[in-house]
Parts: sequence; structure tokens; C-alpha cells
Amino acid sequence: MQYRKGLHEVGDGIWAYLQPDGGWGWSNAGLVTGDGTSLLVDTLFDLRLTAEMLAAMRRTTSAAEQIETVVNTHANGDHCYGNALLEGSAIVTTARCAEEMPLVPPETMAAVVRSGPALGPAGAFLARVFAPFAFDDVPLVLPTRTFEGSLALRVGGRAVSLLEVGPAHTAGDAVVHLPDDGVVFTGDILFHGSHPVVWAGPVHNWIAACDRILALAPRVVVPGHGPLAGPAALTDLKEYFELLTREARARFDAGMTALDAARDIDLGPFAGWGEAERVVTCVHALYRDFGGEAPGDALVLMGDMAALAR
Ligand SMILES: [Zn+2]
Repeated sequence: MQYRKGLHEVGDGIWAYLQPDGGWGWSNAGLVTGDGTSLLVDTLFDLRLTAEMLAAMRRTTSAAEQIETVVNTHANGDHCYGNALLEGSAIVTTARCAEEMPLVPPETMAAVVRSGPALGPAGAFLARVFAPFAFDDVPLVLPTRTFEGSLALRVGGRAVSLLEVGPAHTAGDAVVHLPDDGVVFTGDILFHGSHPVVWAGPVHNWIAACDRILALAPRVVVPGHGPLAGPAALTDLKEYFELLTREARARFDAGMTALDAARDIDLGPFAGWGEAERVVTCVHALYRDFGGEAPGDALVLMGDMAALAR
């Protein structure tokens, strides 16, 4: 299927909404319908993009007029800042995601983008990659219902299963599984065609998350970013993490910094993936798993990514 912007039907009454090129902030979402009502998987990074998506959904199916439930797969703004347009819907996520969501509200992103280079290389990097998005005057609308482990929902007659698989990309990652349709919306457990950002880790838990999704034997895998995928993309991601775990371990033992290790590692079959600066977030998470120092906050990771992206 072509990687083009907009809705793609991935099952009977199930759509993925894709935003090429899938880079920083260009996230995917989804709509699951049943008996005239619907469930939205994730909102987008700003209100304009989310409104555009909702309009496309309403043109495609009248069930999009009745979005009873929104699921936020995790706390990053490109998956929840559009919640303000869904007030009146139940907003569901993991308890850990709900705790994490208020930590980086839209006004923080707006301030970072405004300040830009004044915040150093990390600020300049953020201002550049997030320039296309509008964070001013976006109210953060928090989840109304949380769960731990798993949660069974229904959309009309259709079964929907939410599975908590984090911490991995963030503290509270969840995936949305449609067991009767063979479809999984992974959120950012899968970046398809680009390097994953490891905000939380541990990396071995992300590998376990891939295994859990693979065990569901999905026919269609809707990634959080990038084109539609099948299970093979999750197998590739596992191999990527396994390669980085081996290579980072050798460099950790040799006393190399995470940034130097990220520069030094031969990415082999994954060298063509986009946003290669993100490798350092994985190396930092692995170093912490190996017993090294925690990488510090997101601004430290951003600073190292800015250094790699130069
Ligand atoms: Zn994302």
C-alpha cells in the first residue's frame, strides 16, 4: 500500500491515518468503528492537524461523528495534544501514561520552540524539527480513565483490547489490539523506517513488547510513525535492539561515552533508517541498564541527538 497522507482502510471499518514522512512529530493515528460508533487511537501534535484528521474521518464514515472513546497510546504530545478536540469522549490510557502526560504540556513545547538556539544546541534542534507545529494556546486535556496491565473495550459489537507493554518508548506505552481483525496499533513501540526514540527503556522490555505483539499474530501492524507494516517490521526492530545491545556493551566495557559509542557503532542493515541521531537515546538507555549513570533528562538526550544530527 502506498505511503500517502490520510486514511487507509486496514480492516472492515478500521482505518489508519498516516502522516508522511513519519519523522519528528509526524505521527499516525487510527479509527475503529462498530455499530455507528467509534474509537480513536491517538490524537495528533496540534489542533489544526487533529481537526484535519477528524474532518477526513467524518467524510469517510458517519461513525466518526460518535467518537465515544479516545485511546492515547503514550504521553508524547504527537499522540495526545489534540485531545482538546475530543472533549466529551472518554479518554483512556495507562495509569503511568496519565502520570507522565502533564510533565511536558504544550506550553512547554511552545516555549522551547520560541527560545530555540537560546537553549543551546538541544533547543536549536527542537526548534528546527518542531517548527511545523502550533503549540500556542493548546490546552492539555488529560485522560478520564486509566488502566494497568490490560483493558477490554467494545466498539459496538467489536472487541478491542488495550495492552500495556511499557515502560519502553515511554513510561506507560500501550498498544491497541483488534483480536477479531488481526490489526494492532502499536503507538511508538514501532517507528517503521526510522530509528526508535528510547525515552524510557529498558531496552529488553521493548524487545519483550515486540514479542508480545508478535504473539498476537497480527496481519496488519499500524506503527506510530511511518508506513503500514506487518509482523516482519517488529522482528527487524528486535534485531536492531539486539545488535545495539551487543555493540553498546562492548563500548561500555571499553569506557566509551554513549555519544562516542553512538557515533562508532556500525548499524549494518539498519543504517538506512531515518533520524539516525536517535541511536544515542538507545545507547544511553542501554548504558543505564549495564549499570552506568542514568542519562539525565530529555534535554540531555536532545543535546546528544543535536550533536549527532549536525
Ligand atoms: Zn510519536
